[in-house]
Amino acid sequence: MNCASKKLGKALLNLLFPQHLKCHCCGAEAVVNDYGICESCEKSLLFASDPGSIEGADGFSSPLLYNETVKNAMIPFKYHGAVYKKEFLTHFICIPEDWKADCIVPVSLHANRLKSRGYNQSAVLAEVIAESTGVPVREDLLFRIKDTPNQARIKRQERIENVKGAFEARAECKGLSVILIDDVRTTGSTLRECALELKRKGAEKVYAVTACCSMEEIRNGN
Ligand SMILES: [Zn+2]
Repeated sequence: MNCASKKLGKALLNLLFPQHLKCHCCGAEAVVNDYGICESCEKSLLFASDPGSIEGADGFSSPLLYNETVKNAMIPFKYHGAVYKKEFLTHFICIPEDWKADCIVPVSLHANRLKSRGYNQSAVLAEVIAESTGVPVREDLLFRIKDTPNQARIKRQERIENVKGAFEARAECKGLSVILIDDVRTTGSTLRECALELKRKGAEKVYAVTACCSMEEIRNGN
């Protein structure tokens, strides 16, 4: 499950043939690095040395802190069809060798939301991780059954209430080790609900991964 060699190859190619493209974060025409961002955005990235944990999950990995630079790539990726920004958003995700997962499960969108947005941003991230790890994506194990308001627009306590009972896992997850994928971890309430529901239906292990996590939540000890 090591993606390091692939990344090294790309970094070398980029060193030999620097690309002049639009930066995934600030949008400026610039020489971009091997994951498509300019030097100034690269310098502004912050990393989560300890992203905390998710209740119900056996492990949690989230490499980047959600600052302005990351947000500038995430918003168009999530809401405006800019799925190509996955090149940057998945770059730092590395799945620990000892997770030994059977499948990758993206946090699902409700059917109504999927219809209006046209794609599930977490499934886009999951496909990239599947390619680098060889672990298959399963979108038939976890469903969002409640069409809840957008988490980004509501307060912390409401977020927790908002996602209660929002997901349903299928019995086929019984005995499987699952990697759950989402875009951003804010309060962690969505991942918590998904992990607990998968465990209720008999999943053996549930690991959680997000591209980035909110800084305030880490500071608050959540
Ligand atoms: Zn930039």
